[in-house]
Amino acid sequence: MNVRFSKQEEDFRAEVRVFLEPWRDLDGFFGQGLKWKRVRELFCAMGERGWLSLSWPEALGGLGRGPAYEYILWDEVGYARAARNPLSAGIVARSLIRYGSDAQKARWLPPIRSGELHFSLCYSEPEAGSDLASARVRADREGDEYIVNGQKCWQSYAQDMDYLWLLARTGTQESRGRGLSLFICDKNAAGVTVSPLPTLDDDQLNEVHFDGVRVPVSDRVGPENGAWSIMGEALADERHIQFPPGRVRRDLDEMVEWVKGVGLAGDPVVRRTLADLAVQVREVEIYGLLVLDRMQKGRSAAAEVAANKVIHTVVCQNIARAIVDLGGPEALVIGSRPQLLWRQSMWETIGGGTTEIMRSIVAKQALGLGARR
Ligand SMILES: Cc1cc2nc3c(=O)[nH]c(=O)nc-3n(C[C@H](O)[C@H](O)[C@H](O)COP(=O)(O)OP(=O)(O)OC[C@H]3O[C@@H](n4cnc5c(N)ncnc54)[C@H](O)[C@@H]3O)c2cc1C
Repeated sequence: MNVRFSKQEEDFRAEVRVFLEPWRDLDGFFGQGLKWKRVRELFCAMGERGWLSLSWPEALGGLGRGPAYEYILWDEVGYARAARNPLSAGIVARSLIRYGSDAQKARWLPPIRSGELHFSLCYSEPEAGSDLASARVRADREGDEYIVNGQKCWQSYAQDMDYLWLLARTGTQESRGRGLSLFICDKNAAGVTVSPLPTLDDDQLNEVHFDGVRVPVSDRVGPENGAWSIMGEALADERHIQFPPGRVRRDLDEMVEWVKGVGLAGDPVVRRTLADLAVQVREVEIYGLLVLDRMQKGRSAAAEVAANKVIHTVVCQNIARAIVDLGGPEALVIGSRPQLLWRQSMWETIGGGTTEIMRSIVAKQALGLGARR
């Protein structure tokens, strides 16, 4: 691997840093649901610059840039703690670009690109998280509509989003991944109920219930029963921005500042722990760059992406745990940064695929252990 950013890319990084100055107090990377109004304003400001559609084709209003620009953008936004990359400009837009009809592209891509329209991802269900192919929410066709019934759970930000990006069963239960379709569903449609599920870090996930919800056939994305490959391809398109190393660099920098602030900087145990964590943060960055390198070369990166998710999220937890271990009671005061990082980092190894599932992918894809899916 030899990733070097070009002069233009480095200039872009500098531009992003300047742009982010007024947003550095936002802290929208954590507890986005509590700060949605400003996070949305941030996305609109990014949209004005074309930064939500950096890699989209120019014919669809994008800037047609390579993945390094997106990597740099979300790395800096992650370091600034401003926000997480929006699902709408990521998974939703990338799926529409590949599989949407011309009418769907014309209707949805402009407001996504401008940062005004946002989606919640409705994949997981109470009995279908790691094993998404067993999803049970049904969409049964009646004329020009589908009638949707069932329950989703763990939906991030659904309370604030405008639309739902819905995975539903259109085939038999036995057909597993081959019997699932994707839909765009209005969150305000009759029969949709969104209920909060509080999380450890004072934010919330949601349950979404569908009770006879009518979705026009024109809002199905891609072919009936064709969801599986659409989902996989959209994820593959944004592998380089899913876990920006800037978040972990910032965790470490905050820890160093905190240690200095509480007078622990001279303690040899603290210093050794920090040095060890600094090495781990470098490893996270190397994995992030490895994924980018694969993307730039158009090569498969499934094992690298899974490994990147494991190391990124485990190091988040290592840093948070170290502050709590070394800082003693001060680190556990409600409202303190160490305490928030501790509570927040716990779910990082679950959302977006658990550590066990990621390790399983590495074992199969990189080491050739066990049957391939
Ligand atoms: C903060 C957060 C945000 C989320 N946001 C969204 C969202 O916006 N939209 C959405 O649809 N979902 C969302 N999710 C759901 C997330 O994708 C699931 O929680 C995750 O995929 C795990 O599924 P599960 O919770 O059902 O756990 P399960 O799949 O029931 O797993 C339980 C335990 O068993 C282990 N396990 C399961 N299967 C295997 C296996 N084959 N081999 C080894 N171990 C296994 C898991 O690793 C885990 O430890 C979010 C979750 C979190 C925590």
